[in-house]
Amino acid sequence: RGAIEFKDVSFGYGPERLVLNNVSFTVPSGSTVALVGPSGAGKSTIMRLLFRFYDVNEGAILVDGQDVRTVTQASLRANIGVVPQDTVLFNNTVRYNIQYGRLSAETADIIAAAKNADIHDKILTFPDAYDTQVGERGLKLSGGEKQRIAIARTLLKDPAIVLLDEATSALDTNTERNIQAALARVCANRTTLIIAHRLSTIIHADEILVLRDGEIIERGHHEILLTQG
Ligand code: ADP
Ligand code: ADP
Repeated sequence: RGAIEFKDVSFGYGPERLVLNNVSFTVPSGSTVALVGPSGAGKSTIMRLLFRFYDVNEGAILVDGQDVRTVTQASLRANIGVVPQDTVLFNNTVRYNIQYGRLSAETADIIAAAKNADIHDKILTFPDAYDTQVGERGLKLSGGEKQRIAIARTLLKDPAIVLLDEATSALDTNTERNIQAALARVCANRTTLIIAHRLSTIIHADEILVLRDGEIIERGHHEILLTQG
């Protein structure tokens, strides 16, 4: 489950300009691909097309061999989890914030998701200490910890595909690396992972696609891209 194929995809938000130009790539089920490129390269657009927020002008996008144009948006969304940049966290425990991903989840599943995302030790704390209603119980969580909550929340839904959009990340490089490593570890084999980032600091991708102005200008593994500069 979660295999993705972009076949000669071209797309523009308006008629005047293509934002993606003849983009082709495949992501095997359960693998991790990184979309790397400067702001405006087209990374978020690729993610939006996966959800069918827009349909392609030319080419096709297949998920598990099915053209997304033949699939409802609702079922695509049920299959794809997004770990957003700025997670909306409720004024409630970390545990509740994770459970929000699937309100009917069993306690054991919530705990497992929290453990997988390495946020289990904070499960009874509140995300923001400076909230006056919470008072002493609160404990300020770091940006990385908040993102781990978002990961656990997404994992609880057990989607076939997870998108991590770090394109505008405010986290420091080390925290980002740890987050990506944690996510890649828990997604391994079971969940297809797409990471968008402006820098090739990605460490845990099976393949890196370098995007510029809507085209893939380079693809390969981290080591190969590094030696090429
Ligand atoms: P990235 O995620 O790599 O920063 P985007 O996919 O957001 O790139 O943007 C690719 C191009 O599409 C940019 O030139 C951007 O200005 C344009 N773009 C993005 N969203 C919209 C939109 N809703 N309407 C029109 N143009 C857009
Ligand atoms: P929710 O917690 O709201 O159920 P989902 O995991 O179902 O979130 O994620 C799907 C939703 O995420 C989409 O409806 C969309 O509004 C949102 N989303 C956030 N970032 C992106 C992105 N980069 N591309 C596409 N959708 C995004």
